[in-house]
Amino acid sequence: MLGCIVCNSFSLRHICRNCMEGALAPSFFTRDIEDLRVFSFYKYSEISSLIHYKHKLAGSFILRQLANNSFKKFAQNFEYESKISAIPIDDNTKNGYSHSAILANALKSDIFIPEYKSMRAKNGVVYAGQTLEFRKNNPRDFDFKGARHKDIVLVDDIVTTGTTLLEAKACAEKVGHDVLFAVTLADAKE
Ligand SMILES: [Zn+2]
Repeated sequence: MLGCIVCNSFSLRHICRNCMEGALAPSFFTRDIEDLRVFSFYKYSEISSLIHYKHKLAGSFILRQLANNSFKKFAQNFEYESKISAIPIDDNTKNGYSHSAILANALKSDIFIPEYKSMRAKNGVVYAGQTLEFRKNNPRDFDFKGARHKDIVLVDDIVTTGTTLLEAKACAEKVGHDVLFAVTLADAKE
């Protein structure tokens, strides 16, 4: 690996420092989906070509670089009076790694405590390309093991309609947790 996948210039990392600080510098988007606030750092179209590496080993390194560029900085600048459990959504290992687990790991700080494999979907339905109606009619059916801290944030790679996040939120609230917000790497809404 001797070239940046974005600009082709010499780089020992998949994405060079210039691209990380330039073209891939994170933005900060806020979207309210019903009563859930969702923060994200990229538009999906900006990083979709990078995310398409996800079925290869390189995908985990690229995702980790993007997570360090965004989630990690977000966590370092975040202030709160108590600890917060960071819950990756459905962090099943696919092709050797889990997207949401890598993102939750980048949040790890004095405040955010990642809790892996706590929110798992019992229904493995694939939502990509499906309508909102289909998504609502085919819930993920989460099995939530609970979290150490009352306050939690939900972590996922992409927010599209928000159906998954809202379902996870309801599931956590049912057992007494407060869902402060969700953080995703990319928002599919342009
Ligand atoms: Zn580059």
